[in-house]
Amino acid sequence: MSEDRERRNASPARCDVQGCAQPSKEWFTVQQPTFNVCHTHGERLRSGESHTAHGSELSVGLDDPGELLGVRWSKTAEATVMVLKLGHDGVVDQEVPVRVTSQLADLLRVRDGSRSIDSDASR
Ligand SMILES: [Zn+2]
Repeated sequence: MSEDRERRNASPARCDVQGCAQPSKEWFTVQQPTFNVCHTHGERLRSGESHTAHGSELSVGLDDPGELLGVRWSKTAEATVMVLKLGHDGVVDQEVPVRVTSQLADLLRVRDGSRSIDSDASR
């Protein structure tokens, strides 16, 4: 239970996610740098939550909403999968597969009006 003196500026090691004051418990690597993150953010990041590195800080989730740049559909034997293409400034940096239930597919069709569910949603 000694203080983590080797941490920068002898400050207690906190989660590097913007606005998070939780102590860091694990590491999360984005390309080159490794960030100290708390358990909650570690789980969220590992599950693929949108994030962007700003120097030594990460912004995650609602603080870093990706732009929905397009949607790709693919069908497996069991399910329809909607792949959300997320990114920033028009560049896709993440593809998030989402299983689409038939109920949701119906809902999307209704909300989308005349457009088919198979159309590309990129603007
Ligand atoms: Zn955190």
